[in-house]
Amino acid sequence: MANDWRLQGQEKYLHGITLFWKKYRRYSEAWDHDHCEFCGSKFAEQDAITGALHEGYATADNYRWICTECFNDFKDRFAWWLKQGG
Ligand SMILES: [Zn+2]
Repeated sequence: MANDWRLQGQEKYLHGITLFWKKYRRYSEAWDHDHCEFCGSKFAEQDAITGALHEGYATADNYRWICTECFNDFKDRFAWWLKQGG
């Protein structure tokens, strides 16, 4: 796990933060999708992009998104707080 290809220094800004499980919403009108902070999987609103994820773990401001698989793989290492709603 220490050498997982998905880990690229995210500890600096993702360690110990609060995440919310939610439906994907764009952070800005200026872009139509986001990527998982770890594996790069795409998040998009319903029907916007074929094959994209529509739900995930995100920061309160919808700026950072993490897919279910990465959340489960890294939740202990990153000590995330999971909250409802948001
Ligand atoms: Zn991921």
